[in-house]
Amino acid sequence: MAGPCSVETEEQINYVAQRVKEAGATFLRGGAFKPRTSPYSFQGLKSEGLDLLKGARKVTGLPIVTEIMRASHIDMFESVDIIQVGARNMQNFELLKELGKIDKPILLKRGLCSTIEEWLMSAEYIMAGGNNKVILCERGIRTYETATRNTLDLSAVPVIKKKSHLPVIVDPSHATGKSSLVEQMSLAAVAAGADGLMIEVHNDPKHALSDGAQSLTPEQFDTVAKKVFALKKAYDEIISN
Ligand code: PEP
Ligand code: MN
Repeated sequence: MAGPCSVETEEQINYVAQRVKEAGATFLRGGAFKPRTSPYSFQGLKSEGLDLLKGARKVTGLPIVTEIMRASHIDMFESVDIIQVGARNMQNFELLKELGKIDKPILLKRGLCSTIEEWLMSAEYIMAGGNNKVILCERGIRTYETATRNTLDLSAVPVIKKKSHLPVIVDPSHATGKSSLVEQMSLAAVAAGADGLMIEVHNDPKHALSDGAQSLTPEQFDTVAKKVFALKKAYDEIISN
């Protein structure tokens, strides 16, 4: 899964969608409703952003994944392919319960300060309502380390594999906060047994309206994707022997 942190313009999302598709991505990500630390930061294009994502899906054929922040928006997300619950809402139990009533895959990101047990309990909130289509996403947790935005807990992947049948993917962009670290941690996620990756890609990271520092250019994503696919192939062969 790849795409910009925020959907910004029609040209931007269509261009990035095309580029990540050509590199081998199978889902387009892009935030329309953005949970920002500061209320003065860009909050997303909201419903217009959803429409732009649908437009990019039409142009490229890539299914879309985007973040929901409140239960009253569920109808608006009707034609979204995967609904993302962000780290800040991992324990918004009322939202999780409502998402349990619909028949749509939910990408549940790990909370900033959540244990694996708490994360799995949040997945249970969705599944208890009858929606078993939950995908977990490790996106780093807050520790005392400041060299990276968060600390990528890669051991969460094999731990989840032991405790649950749910697929688990890794987001090295939010985990590290630095584009220069994304390639190495993407490869490490493959080796840890992750079922997928979610990577932020922007046409012009320096001028991105959110998360530019951790966003890859399409060219950088081409390189990362090539290496990831090559490593995944080798990994699967090693594991099957
Ligand atoms: C995002 O995917 O852009 C995002 C806000 O992620 P997280 O909830 O992991 O911080
Ligand atoms: Mn982001």
